[in-house]
Formats: sequence, C-alpha cells, structure tokens
Amino acid sequence: MEITIKNLCKNYVVDGKVFAALDHIDLTIPANRIFTLLGPSGCGKTTLLRCIVGLETPDEGEIMIGDEMVFSAPKGISVATEKRGLGMVFQSYAIWPHMSVFDNVAYPLQTQKIPREEIAVRVEKTLHFVQLDGFGSRPATKLSGGQQQRVALARALVAEPKVILFDEPLSNLDAKLREETRKELRRFLTELAITAVYVTHDRLEALSLSDSVAVMKSGKIIEMGSPWEIYFDSDRRFVADFIGRVNFVEGTTAEGGGDFTLVNSVIGPIACEKKKDYSPGLKATVGIRPEFIKTFRDNPGEGENTFRGRIETLVFLGDVWEAETQVGDATLVVRIDPALPVAVGDAIFLQMDRRYCSILLN
Ligand code: ADP
Ligand code: MG
Repeated sequence: MEITIKNLCKNYVVDGKVFAALDHIDLTIPANRIFTLLGPSGCGKTTLLRCIVGLETPDEGEIMIGDEMVFSAPKGISVATEKRGLGMVFQSYAIWPHMSVFDNVAYPLQTQKIPREEIAVRVEKTLHFVQLDGFGSRPATKLSGGQQQRVALARALVAEPKVILFDEPLSNLDAKLREETRKELRRFLTELAITAVYVTHDRLEALSLSDSVAVMKSGKIIEMGSPWEIYFDSDRRFVADFIGRVNFVEGTTAEGGGDFTLVNSVIGPIACEKKKDYSPGLKATVGIRPEFIKTFRDNPGEGENTFRGRIETLVFLGDVWEAETQVGDATLVVRIDPALPVAVGDAIFLQMDRRYCSILLN
C-alpha cells in the first residue's frame, strides 16, 4: 500500500518560540517495499512516523494510505490510530514483561474481540514466521534481546497490517546481533512484500536493509533514492558525509572533456566522472571515499588523479591501516593494505578512479 504525504508540517512551541519539527514534507512511500527514513538525531524522523501512525496531529498537510485519506488538515479529517491498519515496532520493543510470549503477540487481536481459537491459530502462525515456534508459553523476559525483538515484530504483524512501521528497532542490540537481526528482518519483510517504513540514524542499517532511502535534515526530506544512488550519486555534501566516510577536497570547476569534469582543487586538478553538466568557475568540493583511494609506496607512474602525500597518522584496524595523509594543503584519509610496511612520515602515492570522485555543491 503506497503512502502519500503532502505538505506536512508539524510545529512545536519550545520556550515560547515556534519550531518546525516537520517542514513542508512531500513524500511518496512506495508500496510493498522497504523504505527508510535516515537522518541525524532530532531531524524529525520519529515525529513523521508518529504523524503517519496517528499518534501526533500535524498542523498542515495530508496523509493518504493507499487511497484512503487518513489525515487532512484542510478537510478536517483525522482517522484514529487503531483504524489506520498499521503495525508498529518501537525502539524499546515495548513488549510486556509480565506476559508470556503468546499473550504479547495475541494482544492486538484480543482487543479486536476475535474468537480465542482463531487467535491461537494466528499467533502460532506468526510465531512460526518469526522463528519462535514453541516459545509461546515462555515469559517474555526469559528471551534474548534478538528474540524479544522478534516478539515485537510478531505482535506488529499478527493483525496483518497494510503497513508496518519501525522506529530504530535495533538500537538496543549489540553490534553483532544487530547485523544478524537486520538480515533476518530484510528476509521477513521481503517475504511478506508489505509496505515497511523504517526509521534509523544508522547509515549501514539504511544501506543494507532498504529498497529506497530518504535522507532527512532539520524537518525536511533532502534526498531520496536507492541505497546505491544515495551512496554514490548525491551531489550534496551533507548526504555524502552522512552516508559514509568521505574526504572533501575544495576546488573550482573547470572545462573537462566529453565524459569528465575537471576540478582545480587544492591538491591539483582532479578529473571527476561527469554525472551532470557544471559550468566552469563554480565553487565545488570533490568527495572521495577512503575505500576508493588506491595507495602505492612507489610512484605508479602513469594514471589519472595520482597524488603524492605523506603519512601523518596510522591506525591499525585489522583489515586495513587507516592513515591520515597530507597531500598539498589537504588531509586525506586512506586505507592501506596491512601487508604493506608503512610508517608515519613515509611518502605514499594516492590514486583516485574518476568514477568515485563526486562533485559536491553544498
Ligand atoms: P528524531 O526521531 O529524528 O531524532 P524527533 O522527531 O524525535 O527526531 O524530534 C524532532 C525535533 O522535534 C527535535 O528537535 C525534538 O526535540 C522536537 N520534539 C519532538 N517532540 C517534541 C515535543 N513533544 N515537544 C517539543 N519538541 C519536540
Ligand atoms: Mg527518533
């Protein structure tokens, strides 16, 4: 079920001043895919989710779920939360510790006055789906963090919602479990082919879980695309920076060639793959991620975008040395093969494939 949001605004008054938590949001959330809202803490993700669910009343705008208008400020429509047909999973799981797994999952059906036998069948089916067969009678507290997360998921799914919404549901899990649960969640949601709206500030979660990602900043959606497009194709500095580590090299656009744009930068001219036409003389930043800078101890000779630098710091991370290198007036973070014998003060040659040199404008 597609979700269409038009001109949505939500203001809070803090210390007598009006503050826009949602600032004229226009957004279409695709049906039956995993859609992620990604942004730093405080940018309005939870507020937007709560407006979709109906736990918060927007000041302006409209929200449609499928072809049903669930909220319209101009038309004075506001459908009650429980009538919107949604399932929700919170950061805290919000499962009830004094209840069994079965009762936790059954709760949304019990409030609908569904016969007990039918509830039992549907709860068992949902527990089977989240791979918690046989856990029904267990007290909810006698489960691992990952299992509790799956109980929360089962409870959100049991009433067969049209849309399921997640607010940072993995943030209480440790790193390894978070990674496993992320994969599992992607498998569950893909299998269900349900519209999923997922909120996170974690870029890896957004990249690995989503079919599409919207990046939020200060109450606005500033970019939307596939994880691949967000990672590689954005020409916004904020997005490039937020979605991964990136080196910024300041410069000015110059005439390039047919398939590349040249940026005269503080480390010298950099050829960047042409994704758009930029007029010459524009102030621009070249964004280049550490993982795409090749490093050599000796000058590799021929090769576009090759620069000589000096190693300033070295940190051993196991799979790589992470080094800060001084190149002209810029400091670039690079990754160096751990087998390479390097030391602080050594000369190092950097080579950047133009396909990974992005022109960032703001
Ligand atoms: P996120 O989920 O992206 O971290 P939130 O949607 O929770 O952000 O909050 C967005 C902004 O709105 C924040 O600055 C937050 O402090 C503010 N905010 C959220 N809820 C309220 C409220 N009930 N009253 C006042 N300000 C609020
Ligand atoms: Mg939040």
